Amino acid sequence: MLHIRNYINGGFHDPRSGTWLENVEPATGEVYSLVARSDANDVADAVAAARAAFPHWSGLKAKERSDILLAVSRKVHEHLEDLALAESQDNGKPLWLARTVDIPRAEANMAFFATEILHTETAAHQTDAHTLNYTVRSPLGVVGCISPWNLPLYLFTWKIAPALAAGNCVVAKPSELTPMTAFLFSKLCIDAGLPPGVLNIVHGLGGECGAAIVEHPEIKAISFTGGTQTGETIARTAAPMFKKLSLELGGKNPTIVFGDVDIEHTARHVARASFTNQGEICLCGSRIYVERSIYDRFKQAMIAETEKFVVGDPLQESSRMGALVSQGHMEKVLGYIQLAREEGGTILTGGDRVSVGGRCANGFFVAPTLIEGLDAHCRVNQEEIFGPVATLIPFDTEQEAIAGANSTKYGLAASLWTNDNARVHRVAHRLESGIVWVNCWLVRDLRTPFGGVKASGVGREGGVEALRFFTEPKNVCIQY
Ligand code: NAD
Repeated sequence: MLHIRNYINGGFHDPRSGTWLENVEPATGEVYSLVARSDANDVADAVAAARAAFPHWSGLKAKERSDILLAVSRKVHEHLEDLALAESQDNGKPLWLARTVDIPRAEANMAFFATEILHTETAAHQTDAHTLNYTVRSPLGVVGCISPWNLPLYLFTWKIAPALAAGNCVVAKPSELTPMTAFLFSKLCIDAGLPPGVLNIVHGLGGECGAAIVEHPEIKAISFTGGTQTGETIARTAAPMFKKLSLELGGKNPTIVFGDVDIEHTARHVARASFTNQGEICLCGSRIYVERSIYDRFKQAMIAETEKFVVGDPLQESSRMGALVSQGHMEKVLGYIQLAREEGGTILTGGDRVSVGGRCANGFFVAPTLIEGLDAHCRVNQEEIFGPVATLIPFDTEQEAIAGANSTKYGLAASLWTNDNARVHRVAHRLESGIVWVNCWLVRDLRTPFGGVKASGVGREGGVEALRFFTEPKNVCIQY
């Protein structure tokens, strides 16, 4: 059986403890590889390698670092098909989705930050005729990057690319549920000529390996994407150590549909925003507020669109939805559907586990599920489910829609559907959300600030925000 080993100091290593975790293929429910169960000893090795590599890597010219990271990006492009297949097998997502979204985005992340560092500027402040200030930005040293299972290589590279481009050396941990593409990526880094120790990838459990990264005194910053509760645990350890922290956490995103929209067109896109990647995207809309004047017609259109999300073997092109990432996660999602029934909701479509049969007979499949009749403040409408479950909630006024949208503890992304331009700005500005999409969803420009407010996180990724996070500014004041 394949062993997913740690990538430390440019080579592959078994975990110091000699123990391994089972890695399950969600579509079949079967163990298909073993993952290193690393602990503080492996993290210490990775940090030592990263520290040793830092003077050389941070001393390179931006163009030299850029060339190496572009070579990594090209390797990802050359291995698109293998990586997509590995991502689909490891996560349960449809192969076509990994091929068209996850892996191309990983390639783009590497290329984007590799070239962004060629175009940065720094500030200068002329205080008076005799005094000039200028800002220099330096890499932090060794930084930690911890990523989740839903968009494995996509989010892994979204963190390590700016960290490396800015001149840091990295100790990174992908999710123990989806470690495969990060492992394959480490081989590509070697082939692309990334110097040993610049990137180190340690695998293992969050509470062991992840916690050891957060606790290590030589790791100067933690960039974390994952659940809100994990973010809280990480902040509790890292904040008193005065580490820089970027926390991209959970969401319970509202979709607001006003009565002036094209119903069929909007329902198609709102269904996509709810169920893409099995609803396992932090940006998916899970609470759909619909103006009462079109509620019944929109509901019928949404049911029809939801039922087009055919659940099936992720390897088949016809499957619009694959398996959920794990048995535990499937049970959590089914638990919320049961809770929706208990809270008085009506299941309009879906609501159950799906038996796909064949090689996927034991896979973790759940039907896309649309629910109505729930109070906006019930648990199903307040807590993150992170699966293919969305609720419909009618509203009468703009104020009511905004209040409902803002009623959860989260504030990651919102999507707003209307053709009224004045309303677009009015509502977008009042939504408590880091990101607002208007008449679209998940349209990404890597230069824009990305992140959430309230319990959805602290800090922003993307573009210049990411490079700022991974560098420390220093002001030099000269009087002459
Ligand atoms: P998770 O918090 O369980 O795990 C995320 C990562 O943190 C994993 O690598 C895990 O091993 C590690 N980890 C767990 N406990 C740790 C600890 N104590 N110390 C250090 N590391 C630890 O999250 P998940 O289940 O993998 O991902 C789903 C969550 O991620 C959802 O809440 C989702 O909304 C969120 N998410 C947010 C964004 C965003 O950009 N805001 C993007 C994707 C996913």
